[in-house]
This record gives sequence, structure tokens and C-alpha cells, in this order.
Amino acid sequence: AKDRGPSTVAAYDSRLHAEALDRLELRADLQRAIFQNELVLHYQPTVELETGRITGFEALVRWQHPVRGLLSPASFVPMAEETGLVVQLNTWVLFQACRFAAVLQNDWRRPTMSVNISAQQLVRTDFVEQVNRALSESGLSADRLTLEITESVVLQDLEDVVPRLSQLRDRGIRVAIDDFGTGYSSLAYLTELPIDVLKVDKSFIDRVASDAQGASVTEAIISMSHTMNLSTVAEGVEVAEQAAWLRQVRCPIGQGYYWSRPVDENGVHDLLTRPTNE
Ligand code: C2E
Ligand code: CA
Ligand code: CA
Ligand code: CA
Repeated sequence: AKDRGPSTVAAYDSRLHAEALDRLELRADLQRAIFQNELVLHYQPTVELETGRITGFEALVRWQHPVRGLLSPASFVPMAEETGLVVQLNTWVLFQACRFAAVLQNDWRRPTMSVNISAQQLVRTDFVEQVNRALSESGLSADRLTLEITESVVLQDLEDVVPRLSQLRDRGIRVAIDDFGTGYSSLAYLTELPIDVLKVDKSFIDRVASDAQGASVTEAIISMSHTMNLSTVAEGVEVAEQAAWLRQVRCPIGQGYYWSRPVDENGVHDLLTRPTNE
């Protein structure tokens, strides 16, 4: 082998090598995980700000890795995107979330289920059929399902995506724009999109209690969303001041650690059986 000397370069090289191996291993692992039930869903409630009542849940994937423990999506979803595995992964999520949501329909609130959809899923010609199948296999009614899509995904491929989303909405499925404000979509575009819900990114909610200018920008987004007849969800609400502020500007729905972290299925049943205390 080539002598590179005892410098930090060798150490650096071997660290890169270890990282590469690590990623390769994780990639092979993920493929297996999808088939061996190592993926789990946690669910975070959305709450009506006026009453504290739960309106629905968002399905958030985790990987119960046999060696590495419970992994957050940040540590494997990007890799799944790069390798195309995200299509299989998200298909599993969609079917699993619909199945659980169908069980929850016994509750009087009939909570909705939101599922994160990736670009690679949306551009597939069989996407609409997949969603239809998830609904028919689970027995979930279409109006209880919300698909969350980021702005960039929609704008990337308007001609294909818009008719597809319209088709799903015709069935009663709702479409949400996720992380709104972090992308580059112009407001003009937004009016052209077949959507129902705007989820205002956490970065805007972070500023409302402390920063007057930030608060006025967030208020403008909420009022615009209202004008466009969209429902508005404030993401990442962590403290009472933020919830109070959102109530004051008539934002209808919130989501965040203030009410609940994402929880497992048992946690969902607990949340639905405990009395609302807000
Ligand atoms: P997201 O769709 O924007 O989901 C919200 C993330 O914010 C979740 O992180 C949630 O746990 C976190 N969060 C909620 N409330 C609060 C809060 O009050 N404070 C703070 N600091 N964080 C809060 P999580 O579960 O780690 O998911 C991260 C991202 O991974 C998601 O962002 C989504 O983009 C992606 N993801 C999650 N599940 C899936 C999936 O099934 N498929 C795909 N393609 N992506 C997923
Ligand atoms: Ca989301
Ligand atoms: Ca989000
Ligand atoms: Ca986010």
C-alpha cells in the first residue's frame, strides 16, 4: 500500500473510510428493515387552538435498529431518498398509518391521519392507485387522510403533480403544504395549487413570542392562508406564550411539544382517553 506518512491525513482517510462503510452498512440494513418490521410509526397530535381538542395525528417514521437503537428519520430518510428506497419506505408508512387511522375511527373525534409524501413517490404514475389501495385495504374513509407535501416537491413538477393532487382531492383526501415558508414558492403559485392546508414552519413559530417583526410576518402568513380558504397548522409550538399568540391571531390548529411529543400507538390511545385540560 502507498505510504502516506504518519500525518493526520491517514487518520482522516480512515475516518472517511469508516463513515463510508457505516453508510453502506446502514443502507443494506434499511432494505432489510423495511421487510423485517423494524420500522415503527410514532404519531403527533394536532390540536384545535380554541378548545385544545385533538383533530388528528401526523405519522412520523422511526427505525428500531437492532444494534443502534431507535433512529430518528433525520438519520435515515435522506439516505433512503438518495437510494430510492424511500418509495418502499413511504409506501409502508402510508399503509401502516391508514390501518391505524381506521382503528381510531371508533373515537368520536374521528381524528385525521397525516402522512409525509416524498417527491419520488409523487412522481410515480401509480401514486394515485397506491393511495386508493391504502384506503380500500384499511377501510379508512378518504376524508380522514391528509397528504403532506413540501413546496419544492410540488413546484418541481407542476404539470404532473397538480392533476394528480386534484384527482386525490376529488376523492376527499386533503393535501397540506408542509414546512411552509422555508421553500421559495411565490404566493402567486400557491393560489394555483390544489391544496387544503398550510403548515407554517416551526422557524416562524419560534419568533412570534420574542420578535415583533417575526411575529408580523407570521401573522401575515396566517391571514393569507385564511384569505385563501386554507386551514392553517402552526408547527413546533413549544410554549404557552406561542399558543396564546396563535389563538389571538385566529390560527385554528397547532402542533408541537407544548401539547405532545410524537407517541406510539398506546400513547395515542392514552391521549384520546384523557380529558382535555386546556
Ligand atoms: P416534519 O414533517 O416537518 O415533522 C415535524 C418534525 O418536528 C418531527 O420530527 C417532530 O417530532 C418535530 N416536532 C414536532 N413538534 C416539535 C416541537 O414543538 N419542537 C421541536 N423541536 N420539534 C418538534 P421527526 O419525527 O424527527 O421528523 C423529522 C422529519 O423527517 C419530518 O419533518 C419529515 O420531513 C421527515 N419524516 C418523518 N416521517 C417521515 C416519513 O414517514 N416519510 C418521509 N419521507 N419523511 C418523514
Ligand atoms: Ca410533515
Ligand atoms: Ca413540517
Ligand atoms: Ca420540518
